Amino acid sequence: MSAELRTISIHCARCRSLLYRYRKGGRGGLVKCRPERITEDRTAGDLRCPQCGQEFARAVTMGGGPAHKIIRGKVYTRGMSRK
Ligand SMILES: [Zn+2]
Repeated sequence: MSAELRTISIHCARCRSLLYRYRKGGRGGLVKCRPERITEDRTAGDLRCPQCGQEFARAVTMGGGPAHKIIRGKVYTRGMSRK
């Protein structure tokens, strides 16, 4: 099993604030975040942008563990593709 992880930045789509730095596995788009893979958390832990207050994710259980399910269109990412 190849564990391909890259660190990406997750930003608020409304005000562009940095929300998380995150170690993402796989090649697909960002659907959810696993809390243990967040390497830097700029939020207050309430799944809202600290700058503009927009809610960007919902706390769910996926695959037997907690996850932050990203609300479509509320964030954008940087660092997804390899150089
Ligand atoms: Zn914001």
